[in-house]
Amino acid sequence: MRTPRIAILGIQGGIEEHLAMLQRIPDIVSYATYKTSELASADGIILPGGESTAIGKLIEDFALKDVIKQKAQAGTPIWGTCAGAILLAKSIENDTRRHLAVMDITIKRNAYGTQINSFVTYTVLPFLGNEAFPIVCIRAPIITAVEGTARILAHLNSDIIAVQQGNLIATTFHPELTEDSRFHLWFANLVKKQTSH
Ligand code: GLN
Repeated sequence: MRTPRIAILGIQGGIEEHLAMLQRIPDIVSYATYKTSELASADGIILPGGESTAIGKLIEDFALKDVIKQKAQAGTPIWGTCAGAILLAKSIENDTRRHLAVMDITIKRNAYGTQINSFVTYTVLPFLGNEAFPIVCIRAPIITAVEGTARILAHLNSDIIAVQQGNLIATTFHPELTEDSRFHLWFANLVKKQTSH
């Protein structure tokens, strides 16, 4: 098996933090990029948190929309955190813009309020084991509807905070801002499995 390559969309937001997490995982190559060719050759892609309006606009300006959408449709694992999840959503409750629009989810931006309503809490994510996972939410969205083949991975109280639709993953929170690498490890394993096919 060749070494899986995970690209972090390197336009704006928490790019370095994702990179630092991935670099702790053995047997994968990781890099940040906004080049079409480097995204096209990736076996997995992370869309970081940040500002979805800014990232979405630059995806268009840099003509990256098609390559990312093609990867999404071809089965490449793509994980969007926070603003990245907003980019993946087909429907955004409180925004007229649509970005990559590849996941059958509806999302509401800034659903907990403004920057001061950011928070950290803990909840068990069963697919990562029994130990509670730190949930870091920064002006976070909430996933308000899940349709088609999309499946809820996790709730926080009654809010949907993680969804998987085949190769596509959306989380409203930021595992890259914690010391806990279990989510990145889980994603890397998904990429490894897909790469070995
Ligand atoms: N509030 C941002 C948005 O709507 C997302 C925040 C984040 O990625 N931490 O794009």
